[in-house]
Amino acid sequence: MAWMMQVFSEDLHLLVARWYTSAVPRHRRPRRSRLHRPVVLASAVFSALVVLALSPLALSPSSGAADPVVARLASPSPELGPSPSIPTLRGAVAGVTSDHRARATLPPPVPTDPSHLAGYRWPLLHGRITLPFGPWHDGSRIVAGKAFHDGLDLATFCGDRIVAAHDGVVLAAGRHYDSQMGWIGDLGPYFERLDAKSLWTTLPIVVVVDDGNGYRSLYAHFGKIVVKRGQAVHGGQLLGYEGQTGHASGCHLHYGLFSPRETALFGIDAKVAEHMQLPDAEIARIDPLLVLPPRIKPAALPAPAGAPRPLHGDDGSY
Ligand SMILES: [Zn+2]
Repeated sequence: MAWMMQVFSEDLHLLVARWYTSAVPRHRRPRRSRLHRPVVLASAVFSALVVLALSPLALSPSSGAADPVVARLASPSPELGPSPSIPTLRGAVAGVTSDHRARATLPPPVPTDPSHLAGYRWPLLHGRITLPFGPWHDGSRIVAGKAFHDGLDLATFCGDRIVAAHDGVVLAAGRHYDSQMGWIGDLGPYFERLDAKSLWTTLPIVVVVDDGNGYRSLYAHFGKIVVKRGQAVHGGQLLGYEGQTGHASGCHLHYGLFSPRETALFGIDAKVAEHMQLPDAEIARIDPLLVLPPRIKPAALPAPAGAPRPLHGDDGSY
């Protein structure tokens, strides 16, 4: 019996040694093809059974003499997971193949033309535009060599309701938003500086929403927010209240819009980037006025009979 064990154990070692020295050791197809060889399979199974019967303690994970090879055969490795059935495996391989084909034929991602974006509404109803998107002498972004304001500033009064401009899912809510803002570069030094100098509370309170159309909406300077990361929101839903967090000069909303698929970049003022340890570029933004509906003057609104018109609705009817 001992010689049989030795022979089959050697056979087994050979089998597994080939498995482990294969160029694709974690790929399951070679394993399957080897297991299809009747002689090798019978040898492996018999060896496993013999060792299992004669030395049950060898399978104990706590035993120093445990043979990992046998243990692997006797119980599925947590790394590999349960062995898939052949049809499942075939399905998975077929899926991967067709997925690769699909990827190979996909054009490189390009942002949707802003003129095709629909469903946007004003995030701050009745907000006055205090600073448009575009060149601004005090801007920290650099576009075509000029200082630039990369969003639209709207203002009413502190504590006014700020609503989602579009349906979407909240990617960030609070002061940990920078990783969702489209920075190009390493944010590590920036975060380390915030930690080291305890500067997190100096940042604005921000909400970033994936609008579900390839774009993200950025809302900044909240006094307070009422949404959480991961939450689905619908256009017009309350996000929070107008404030001036982040050293704003007064209560207002900074509303920004960009597509992660965009390849154009905005520069960051070198002094600002150096001081804050920020990357020196961000993904280019678009002018929110390209997607927000035209404003309707109050005088043009039809007066519903007997129904007072709310000053601040969040359903976009203004
Ligand atoms: Zn702004």
